[in-house]
Amino acid sequence: MIEKFIKNEQLNYIKKQIALIKDSTTKNVPQNVLTAVIDLANAKILTLFPKASLEQQAMLDLSKLKTDKEYEQYIQQLSDYLLPFPKITEQQLKKMFPKHKKMKLPDLSNVDHNQLTYLSWNDLGYNKKFIVYELEGKMVGIECEISPNRNKNLCSICNSFGEVAYFSTVTKARKSKNPDYYRSIGNLICVDSCECNKKITNVEYLTTFLKDSLGI
Ligand SMILES: [Zn+2]
Repeated sequence: MIEKFIKNEQLNYIKKQIALIKDSTTKNVPQNVLTAVIDLANAKILTLFPKASLEQQAMLDLSKLKTDKEYEQYIQQLSDYLLPFPKITEQQLKKMFPKHKKMKLPDLSNVDHNQLTYLSWNDLGYNKKFIVYELEGKMVGIECEISPNRNKNLCSICNSFGEVAYFSTVTKARKSKNPDYYRSIGNLICVDSCECNKKITNVEYLTTFLKDSLGI
């Protein structure tokens, strides 16, 4: 049986490294430079998997790949090792957001759980974005306000350019100057979370944002 060990954002990261190598190849850089680019990519990828077995380490090694077709097949092959987003039901989502009895729910049957770091959907009727993520083994959810303005900018979660909007959420932390109020945090985030999930390469911002919002 295949032991799944790669997360969506990790596969995205590997794809990004492959794109860098392919870019160097098309620019016809000297062989020693290309070797250095590949070595660096391999080293960066390995740091993502500190617990990888020798077999897994060998699988992650990009040095043996040469052609576009080989890279393509390689990404395909790695996709078999993707850890899917945990199964979640509509009931569980409703329970997570008890204040929003009438909120619009995502069509879970249409969600590709393999290409998902975080589950998110917008309810534009309420100007809300809901984010669900498995944080340290526990499913957590937060709701954010979405500003109606959209523009092209850098998303804080995936760190890529795309259509973003300002999202803000009220945290559990009180304001230092005015303890009667809770501190709110926000940032520019992709409007389309499906696109964001295709581009996210690490969960640093996402987990910090969630922890701050939830006060943990
Ligand atoms: Zn994004």
